[in-house]
Amino acid sequence: MDFIQPADVYLINTCSVTSRTDYKSRNAIRKALQAKAENPAAKIIVTGCYSQINPSSIRELGEVDLIVDNNSKSSIFSKITTNDHSFQTVDQFSEFDDMDTFTMFEHTRAFIKIQDGCDFFCAYCTVPLGRGKPRSRTPEKVIEQIRTLADRGYREFVLGGVNLGLYGRDLPSGQNLENLLPVIEALSGVKLIRLSSLEPQFLTASLIQVLAGMQKLARHFHIPLQSGSDQLLISMKRHYSTSRFSEITASLMAAFPDAALGLDIIAGLPGETDRLFQETMDFLQDLKFTYLHVFPYSIRPGTLAAGMPDQVNGNTVNLHISRLLELSSRKKETYLKQLIADQTAITGIVEGREKDYWTGVSDHYIRFYLQEAGCLKGSYVRLKPEKILDDGLEVRLCD
Ligand code: SF4
Repeated sequence: MDFIQPADVYLINTCSVTSRTDYKSRNAIRKALQAKAENPAAKIIVTGCYSQINPSSIRELGEVDLIVDNNSKSSIFSKITTNDHSFQTVDQFSEFDDMDTFTMFEHTRAFIKIQDGCDFFCAYCTVPLGRGKPRSRTPEKVIEQIRTLADRGYREFVLGGVNLGLYGRDLPSGQNLENLLPVIEALSGVKLIRLSSLEPQFLTASLIQVLAGMQKLARHFHIPLQSGSDQLLISMKRHYSTSRFSEITASLMAAFPDAALGLDIIAGLPGETDRLFQETMDFLQDLKFTYLHVFPYSIRPGTLAAGMPDQVNGNTVNLHISRLLELSSRKKETYLKQLIADQTAITGIVEGREKDYWTGVSDHYIRFYLQEAGCLKGSYVRLKPEKILDDGLEVRLCD
């Protein structure tokens, strides 16, 4: 809701992934403070990564009622009612903070957080400072949460985490993704399981084998590459080389020949010269993938990269971004044309109406547009691609 509307509680979930999100977080708190000036009985509660990393700078902004650490979000209500101001630092986080829910509000797919925290300390990343060490939701709790949402009609489940591949590392029972995924697939009501971003080194031969044996897994993977320059991968403390990355994605695509593969790339990492950027472009040209998520590098105080020389100027970063996005569009078009040529069947859940079409995001992470009179929001459909339309595919129902 907007801050101009009166409220009993303003709850602000801050983010610190870039300097821009820091700014937006501070701005939201300032607006809440202005609203509180009009309505002094309102409470302002701040949580999330920006406040976890910078609690003192939140207090400097004004009279915030409560700052809740990132591992106590499930206790916000009891903290307000008991006036509990305790605050854990990240090194005190020990267990996954379970937050059960029975609705995703307007979403047709259910996002299930199964993992939190990361201790990889990539040179540019502030996440370990805001989220702490890896923690996993127990398999019992994951199953319970999915059952609750499946009983309420959700059919697509997106499994997410800060560093998803670390799932289970902290659990005593030796649980991991390989043994969790088949259990989720066996649950009635589950039609589609999608994995959120997975670090490349976790795509081992045995995990790929498990994934290939699943019937309900979305043909869509998202892997952070970040740079196609080996020199930058080393300086950013990424633990793979470009050749290893190629091998991993080739194994994955051999098991899922029609899958969509998305990659994260950071433009303008410290030390990214024109030559090293060209290495990234050359590497990507030759790689089989579907689209890029491109992020500009943002200096994060407290990280190794923030103190590195050779920071890249904004104009060069923008140039690199536009070249990457142009390549991404070409790769996506090639992929869509291939789906049409092969008449690949795609599945998905109808999210709603757009223009004259029913629309949704398919298992292959493609927006589909369907002209079909008898469709219903939330229905699970099997489709054949007809032609490219806007950002996705016009489709027909499978016979
Ligand atoms: S693995 Fe991901 S979350 Fe962890 S430090 Fe690296 S970029 Fe950040």
